[in-house]
Amino acid sequence: MSKTSNILVDSMGRNHNYLRISLTEKCNLRCTYCMPEQGVPLTPSAQLMTADEIYQIAKIFVRHGVTKIRLTGGEPLVRKDFKEIVEKLATLGTSMALTTNAVLIDRFLPTLKAASIQKINVSLDTLRSERFQKITLKATFEAVQQNIDRLLQEGFELKLNVVLLKGVNDDEIIDFIKLTKSKPLSVRFIEFMPFDGNRWDRSRTVSLEEILACATEVFTTDEIHRLENVPNDTSKNFSIRGYQGDFGVISTVTNPFCDSCNRLRLTANGRLRNCLFSEQESDLLTAYRNGQPIDPIIQKAVRLKFALRAGLDTPQKFEDPAHHRKNRSMITIGG
Ligand code: SAM
Ligand code: SF4
Repeated sequence: MSKTSNILVDSMGRNHNYLRISLTEKCNLRCTYCMPEQGVPLTPSAQLMTADEIYQIAKIFVRHGVTKIRLTGGEPLVRKDFKEIVEKLATLGTSMALTTNAVLIDRFLPTLKAASIQKINVSLDTLRSERFQKITLKATFEAVQQNIDRLLQEGFELKLNVVLLKGVNDDEIIDFIKLTKSKPLSVRFIEFMPFDGNRWDRSRTVSLEEILACATEVFTTDEIHRLENVPNDTSKNFSIRGYQGDFGVISTVTNPFCDSCNRLRLTANGRLRNCLFSEQESDLLTAYRNGQPIDPIIQKAVRLKFALRAGLDTPQKFEDPAHHRKNRSMITIGG
């Protein structure tokens, strides 16, 4: 399918060829930095995109030039029709990727392989079983460990997403880097970001600078090798000489990378978000169900995208709790 117009190019000239689709607001874990303590009010299922609506809406994006689709959530693998969704999307011919907590992934390996989903991001914030339970409020550490090894054995391209929280898991930075010695995977440390209900505080975020300072206490500057960025990279990447894998930092809080942003997000209830931090959403699903063209809605949403973090262009604005409450919680956005 070829690109027919440039409705995905914003006023800054950024071309949005990457669509992240949240399949569900539900999750089988309860990560405290993502899911508010009191849970989230779930959208009634009749208002969520069906497998066919996901396919039809994605097809419109692909017609306009989307070349990469990532499935996320909530936890995408808890969706009962995950296999059907993947099979339909695979016919669109884009590259496909998945972000998951990996608790259930062993059940879906044939589905992922059949759809050529090779790139998998697994969230894992600790290498310690007890701590895993404290962070996720569930006891599935061993299952996740086994599934990570299984994914590597089966040849998937694996990234581990590690959200660092000061005083919670920041003493594991070196353990995670050392994991890349024998395992061919990419560890990506993510700066803790503010969303509704996650009790964010700047002092709980571990910054890019702090992560690198920690690495240089253990490894010499000769051993730490800076990797070249590929276009639209969200992380600054490094490897330790002689190690099989590498590590990087997604520094949305202290060093945003908005100037090369190529991402749009579709929530499970069919709302288009032009930025993770946007207060505005565009309702594609209702328009689609009413038989209206959604292309003009997409175009308007893309044009209105701010240059930097949905207009939160100073630390003061970004750190203002009033704004965090206006945004959704991460579990319902789709990270
Ligand atoms: N359930 C899947 C998972 O955990 O990978 C997919 C959805 S989850 C919302 C996507 C990513 O967002 C995860 O890597 C998670 O660690 C990250 N995330 C959630 N809340 C975050 C926050 N407040 N700051 C930074 N990253 C966050
Ligand atoms: Fe679930 Fe992923 Fe959020 Fe954890 S980060 S609660 S696994 S959606």
